[in-house]
Amino acid sequence: MSARGAERLRLGHPWIYRSDIRSSDAEPGDLVRIASERGRPIGTGMWSSTSQISLRVLALDDVADERGFFAERLRAALAFRETLGIDATAWRLINAEGDRLPGLIVDVYGEGAGRVAVIQTLTQGMDRRIELLTGVLVDLLSPAGVLARNDPRVRRLEGLPELVTVVRGEVPETVEVREGPIGYVVNLREGQKTGLFLDQRENHAAAAGYARGRGLDAFSYHGGFALRLAGGCDSVLALDSSAPAVAQIAANARHNGLANIEAREANVFDELRELEIARVRFDTIVLDPPAFAKNKASVARAAAGYKEINLRALKLLNPGGVLVTCSCSSNVDETMFYDILIDAAADARVAVSLVDKRAQARDHPILLAAPETHYLKCFVLRKLG
Ligand code: SAH
Repeated sequence: MSARGAERLRLGHPWIYRSDIRSSDAEPGDLVRIASERGRPIGTGMWSSTSQISLRVLALDDVADERGFFAERLRAALAFRETLGIDATAWRLINAEGDRLPGLIVDVYGEGAGRVAVIQTLTQGMDRRIELLTGVLVDLLSPAGVLARNDPRVRRLEGLPELVTVVRGEVPETVEVREGPIGYVVNLREGQKTGLFLDQRENHAAAAGYARGRGLDAFSYHGGFALRLAGGCDSVLALDSSAPAVAQIAANARHNGLANIEAREANVFDELRELEIARVRFDTIVLDPPAFAKNKASVARAAAGYKEINLRALKLLNPGGVLVTCSCSSNVDETMFYDILIDAAADARVAVSLVDKRAQARDHPILLAAPETHYLKCFVLRKLG
C-alpha cells in the first residue's frame, strides 16, 4: 500500500482507495493482511473487487479466528447499547464503521422472544459472511427471526444484487415496537431503511421538549416527529409527498389515540410557500428532508434546497418559535449546514439563536477519524423577536 494510504490508516480512517493499492492478489470479499510499501504488516481489511474503496480496515493486527473476531465485536456493540438506557424497543446494534464493522448494519425490532434482527451486508466481505454473522447474531440475541434487508442501492457498487430474504427463523409481516411513549406498527420488509428512522429517535424526544402552540412536521414519513410534537402542541400538521406514508401517519395517530394531528400529502417546497401566502403561522417546526446531496456533484443544488426550506420555515415561525432542522447528507458537513442556515436567516431577515446542536442517536456511533460517518445534523434554532 502507498505511503498516503498508510498515513490515512494511521490516523484511523478505515477506507483505502484503489489508487493507494500497490499490489493485491485478493478475491472479492477476502480478509487480507495489509502491508506498507516496505512490507511491514499494518492491519487486516476486507477486499472489494469493484468499489473505489478497495479495502475496509477491520483491525490493526491479524485476525486469526474469524468467528471469534466477529462474535467479540458484536458482543462489545451490544454491551455498549446496554449502557445507553435506550427508551425504545427498536434500536441499532451495529452501525458499520462506528462499530469497527464497515459494511455491516444490524437493527433490532421488538422485545423478548418476539424480537427480530434486520441485517444489511453492504460490502462483498460482509455479504460473503452473512451466514457466519447471522449465526453470531442468533447466539447473542436468540431472535425469532433474522431478515436480510439487502436492497440498498449502494450494494451495486460492490456488484451485489438487491434482495430481501429471511435468513433465519420467522419474520412476521409487521412488528409492534415502542419509541418512548409512542407505539409503531412496522413493516420490516417494505419500510424505508430497515422500517423506521431509528437514527432520529433521540431527536424526536428532544423536539418533544420544545413542542407548543401550532406544530408543523415537514418530511414526516410515518410521523416520527409529529407524534411526539402532538403531546405539547395544540395541533400538528404533518407533511409528506408519499401517499402510503401519509396513510401510515394517520394510522399511527389513531393507534396512539392522538386526535390533534392532520396528515397531508404534499410537496414540502410548494406547501411551505402556500402556507406563507395563506398567512398560516407556527410555533414549532421540524424539517427532516431526505438526503438532498447523494454525491459530491449534487452538493450545490442540495445547498440551494436546504436554504429554500429553511428560509420558508423561518418566515412561517412566530417570534419565539423553535425550528428543529435536520440534514442527513454526509456530503454537507456541519460547517456547511451552519453557513446555509446563516444565509437562510439573513434572506428571511430574522435573528436566530442556536439552542442545541445534535447528531444521529448514540446507538448510531460516529467514527471520529471518519467524518463521513457523521451524516446527520440536527440543529435546534429559535427565532428571536
Ligand atoms: N422525519 C421522519 C423521516 C423522514 S424521511 C422521521 O423522523 O421518521 C424523508 C421523508 O421525506 C420521506 O418519507 C419522503 O417520502 C419525504 N419526501 C421526500 N421529498 C419530499 C418532498 N419534496 N415533499 C414532501 N415529502 C418529501
